[in-house]
This record gives sequence, structure tokens and C-alpha cells, in this order.
Amino acid sequence: MKSETISYLPEADKGPWGIYLEQVERVTPYLGKLSYWVDTLKRPKRILIVDVPIHLDDGTVVHFEGYRVHHNTSRGPAKGGVRYHQDVTLSEVMALSAWMTIKNAAVGLPYGGGKGGIRVDPRRLSPSELERITRRYTSEIGILIGPKKDIPAPDVGTGPREMAWMMDTYSMNVGATTPGVVTGKPIAIGGSLGRADATGNGVFFASRSAAEKIGLDIEGSRVVVQGFGNVGNAAARAFYDHGAKIVAISDVTGAVINEAGIDPYDLADYVSKSETRGVLGYPKAEPLPAAELFQVPCEFLIPAALERQITEQNAWKVETKIVAEGANGPTTPAADDILAERGVIVVPDVIANAGGVTVSYFEWVQDFNSYFWTEEEINKNLERVMREAFEAVWQVSQDRKVSLRTAAYIVAASRVLEARAMRGLYP
Ligand code: GLU
Repeated sequence: MKSETISYLPEADKGPWGIYLEQVERVTPYLGKLSYWVDTLKRPKRILIVDVPIHLDDGTVVHFEGYRVHHNTSRGPAKGGVRYHQDVTLSEVMALSAWMTIKNAAVGLPYGGGKGGIRVDPRRLSPSELERITRRYTSEIGILIGPKKDIPAPDVGTGPREMAWMMDTYSMNVGATTPGVVTGKPIAIGGSLGRADATGNGVFFASRSAAEKIGLDIEGSRVVVQGFGNVGNAAARAFYDHGAKIVAISDVTGAVINEAGIDPYDLADYVSKSETRGVLGYPKAEPLPAAELFQVPCEFLIPAALERQITEQNAWKVETKIVAEGANGPTTPAADDILAERGVIVVPDVIANAGGVTVSYFEWVQDFNSYFWTEEEINKNLERVMREAFEAVWQVSQDRKVSLRTAAYIVAASRVLEARAMRGLYP
């Protein structure tokens, strides 16, 4: 199938969406007959841009720009988080929605891919302002979301509290309590046990699977973590609990290093009490310039912050064996090549951080059944799904002699495009 390249963005934008397109280019030669449908992956199914006006606490009215993108729904409803961050752009939300399509298919979840976001710095809003922005945004995207259409979840800058407001707003608007419209909710309103730490635990499971392949022990290994939010924090705890040494951690406030090891529980306690709400000034470690974080020698490097962190500028300096992507899109394609050349294994985001959406899926199934599982059942099933997904992708990477990212894209794109081909074009 041939078509013109369409663009919703200026040609010059080589932003996150440009990176995603490059990843699709790289997988296309491996898709065989299914490459007939590959343009499907190169454009989102639908994009909604919404104006989100709210009253600030001082009575003034401010407008924010919000988005909800459905990248693909060939295999099931759109699924993916909502990001609140001052740098959110349409290019970013488009890429994040596409990465959800690939992630959900790579892991075998019966979902398409979607993502949303608001360009806002949530740290500058009061709790009541955050409630108003969340409710107004939910109403604005109400024409797209629904438990069988599109199921939002937390992402950077949002969490269970925002999901509770989203669930309530949607439920009030349709006149029926509808827990299955969002995942990552508090337990009291239909959330799932194990969801909060699922992404970080999944990063650990994926890292451990990769380590087994090269005979690397977790016990005594050194770990560097970029980002100490929901993902970085839980991943650090999982490594620490299994005997690894967390040697350096960074967040927006700075970076800290201690070659003897940092206790992530103690650090989390410090962060919750510190004035900056960050790792800066942690007394049991030394300060480190954030730009030097990736050069700290380690066995596992976990980028768990934002996109485009490991680039062609710094990939040469990375001193690790395994990069496990807790964030979405932290490594650029050029950096991927440099890391491959240097023998560094990259466990791609679409596998490494898939634990979050996997337990979101468990939550959604539980909500539909109104029957809830034990934490043990959740974690056991998460571990199984992560192991099976990693093994399948590893096998493809060995058979086709490609990186784990290209292998994951082969598995995922084939599933999406097979569904696409079977459904056909209508109307
Ligand atoms: N925001 C998470 C991600 O990027 C979770 C999405 C979800 O649970 O739907 O995978």
C-alpha cells in the first residue's frame, strides 16, 4: 500500500514522533507481506486537541492545552496514560500513544495504543486547581474515553488521585459508576493491588531476564537510576531487595552518588520530608553533576525519567552492561546504534516498562468482573507475562540477528498489522 507521507507537524520536527517513525522504518524490512499495511503504524488513528480552562485559586482564569491521541485500535480499545508536564507537545503525545500500541502488542495485551497529556507544570498548581484541571480535561476528552473505547492511566505527573477524579467525572457524566474507565485508581474505588509498583517491578523482571542471558548476577551488581518518581523508585527498591547496590540516582533536583550503595527506602523517606521534594542534599551520598550520571560505572543503567536522554552525544560515555528503559523513549536511534556497537544490551521500553500496563490490564479485567485478586496472584501473573514477553523477543533477536528493540517491534508490529489485515478497510 502506497501513500503520501502526511505530517501533522513541521518537517523540522525530529522530536519524539520522528524517533518513533525511525523505529518503524527499521522494522519494516522484517515484516514480509505485512509491510503492505505498515503505513497504518505511521499515522495516529485520531487526535483530539482540547482547550482546558480553569479558575485558579485567586479567581483568575487560565487556559491549558490538552491532548488525547488514539494511535491504533486494531487489537482492542486504546490504552495508555495521561501526562502532566510543562514540556508536553503533540509530537510527544503522538509518540507515546504509538509506543503504547507497540508495547501492548509486544506483551500480548488485547489493547490498541493511546495517550493523553496536558502542557502544565503540576507542581505549580494547588490540589484544588489540579482537581479542576483534571475534571475539565476528562470532560473534554469524554467523547473518546470509555471502558470499552479508551482507558487512561497514570503517567508522568499523574497518579491514583488524578485517576479517582477522572473516574468520578466520567461516572457522573454518564450517570453510572464506571471503575473500568481508568486504571491505576486507588484500591477503594476498584484499583488493583500491586499496580503502584508494577512498572518498577517489571523493569526489574525484564532486567533480570536479560542478565540471565549473559550470566550476570543481580546480587552485588551496581545499578544507576535516572528518575526517582513512581518507576525509578520502585525499580530501585526491587534491585535493592534482591541484593543489588544502587550507586547513583538522579531526579529533577539533582543527582547523588555513593559507591557503597544507597538505600532507596531511606532516600524515599528523605525526599518526602525534604524542602525540594527531591534527592538534592541527601546526606548519606555525595552530590554528582546530573550530566555525569550516565558515566558512572555500573552493570544496570535504568533511565526512568523522560524521552531522549541517551543520545549520540552521551552514548559513548555510558559504562554499563544492560540499559533497561523504565521511561518511554529514553534512547534515540543513533544512541541505540552506538550502544549496540559497544556491546551494551538495551532492554527496550516497550518490554522493560510494560509491567505498568500489564497490571492495568489485570485491574481492568477485575473491574469488569467485580472480583478482585490477591497481591500474590497479581505479582505472580506479572512475573509470568514479563518473562514470556522477554523470552519471545530475545528469541526473535537471536534468530533475526537484530537488537531487542527491533525484535520487539517485529513481534508487535506483526500482531498489529495482522489484525489490521484481517479486519480490512471499512467503510
Ligand atoms: N503510563 C504507563 C505506560 O507508559 C502505563 C499506561 C497504562 O497503564 O495504561 O506504560
